[in-house]
Amino acid sequence: MSRRYSIFTLARNAVSHHEGWAEAWRSPEPKRAYSVIVIGGGGHGLATAYYLAKEHGVTDVAVLEKGWLGGGNTARNTTHVRSDYILDENARFYEQSVKLWEGLSQELNYNVMFSQRGMVRTGHFDAQTQALIRRGNGMRLNAIDAVFLSREELRRLVPILDFSPQARFPITGAFFQPRAGIARHDAVAWGFARAADARGVDIIQNCEVTGFVIEGGRVRGVETTRGPIGAGKVGIAVAGHTSHVAAMAGLRLRIESHLLQAMVTEPVKPILHTVVSFGAGHFYTNQTDKGEIVMGGDLDGYNSYAQRGNLPMVERVAAAAVTAFPCFSRLRIMRHWAGVMDMTMDGSPIIAKTPIEGLYVDGGWCYGGFKATPASGFVFAHTIAQDRPHFLNEAFALDRFERGHALDERGAGPYPGLH
Ligand SMILES: Cc1cc2nc3c(=O)[nH]c(=O)nc-3n(C[C@H](O)[C@H](O)[C@H](O)COP(=O)(O)OP(=O)(O)OC[C@H]3O[C@@H](n4cnc5c(N)ncnc54)[C@H](O)[C@@H]3O)c2cc1C
Repeated sequence: MSRRYSIFTLARNAVSHHEGWAEAWRSPEPKRAYSVIVIGGGGHGLATAYYLAKEHGVTDVAVLEKGWLGGGNTARNTTHVRSDYILDENARFYEQSVKLWEGLSQELNYNVMFSQRGMVRTGHFDAQTQALIRRGNGMRLNAIDAVFLSREELRRLVPILDFSPQARFPITGAFFQPRAGIARHDAVAWGFARAADARGVDIIQNCEVTGFVIEGGRVRGVETTRGPIGAGKVGIAVAGHTSHVAAMAGLRLRIESHLLQAMVTEPVKPILHTVVSFGAGHFYTNQTDKGEIVMGGDLDGYNSYAQRGNLPMVERVAAAAVTAFPCFSRLRIMRHWAGVMDMTMDGSPIIAKTPIEGLYVDGGWCYGGFKATPASGFVFAHTIAQDRPHFLNEAFALDRFERGHALDERGAGPYPGLH
């Protein structure tokens, strides 16, 4: 039976009471060895496996995931996709990602529910408004869409923001990226998994990597909770556990692990039609297709690997939410959670070869790795297959800090908690 999803397979399966659907991906036993092992079954690891098979014909690939697919940050994030970066290296990379997002559902034959509803950043004083205009101009020089909205234009787009005379932070204008948006997070992991599996990739869940086999400066395989598995090449794509897993290979990375929380309210009728990042505090929000209001804010401010939220941050985010959107005060928060952020010293990612031959790392995603998923998989697959970076990730090298070529988008200096 064809595994392709279409209106015809939907109709055929409806007739048979939806009991005949093929499994989305297999659950094979691990083989003794693979040409390439990708550690981490989040969006990045699965996308890497998919593009290895599709773009480079490397199909003898296993993705090893210690838990379940997308159980890490992929399904814990607020799903904002944008390319509003000002440094050329970041702008080019994230814009390529948005372009891949635009065709992803068709590419994967899986609806990742990418919705280009746009993203607003509000400005509240002159210097901030000028900085937003500068950001937009920088983007336009890189052929990325960016618009400046006056206070009145913003009021028409997002009337529920606080435009009242008593507003604590009066809004002076806003930056808007119309092609930004959101996607369904776990569908991204499942879509890449299904498409990679269809090209022969083995996806192995409940298989934790516990060590590396390294001989003569070259990686030969990995130790796992399901026994040793040989490999010609190994790619690490474990987000919040990047420094921890790299340490098993003797590498000390310039990454700190921090917590980032998010939360959702009860669902309500559509009231917010775009993503909003509130400039008078670090607060960002959107409404999901189910009607819930998703909200996020700052890092917790201390290093941790705990994947759970805490009440002080809930209070802080809720306070910012009510300041920006007074009508949110009537909503009840339903759930909150946290993910582990792999924060680099400059806030930009690492997608690179390591000093160990055949070992590659994709990490340091900070707050922003979900939007990068397709481009990250694309260039990481290239880096692994060709043993050299794609031109889009040349700047995301591991040694850029030693060379003084940091990509400090925010200008915060070497303080991971501030990026
Ligand atoms: C609250 C929150 C909000 C966010 N909001 C946004 C946003 O709006 N937009 C955006 O672009 N980004 C956002 N991010 C960041 C984004 O979620 C991540 O950067 C991105 O999902 C990382 O994807 P990944 O595939 O690298 O990691 P993950 O999805 O974390 O996948 C890594 C996988 O590796 C596995 N793993 C770890 N160690 C091992 C091991 N030893 N052996 C085998 N497997 C292992 C883990 O179980 C995990 O499944 C947010 C993150 C959080 C937590």
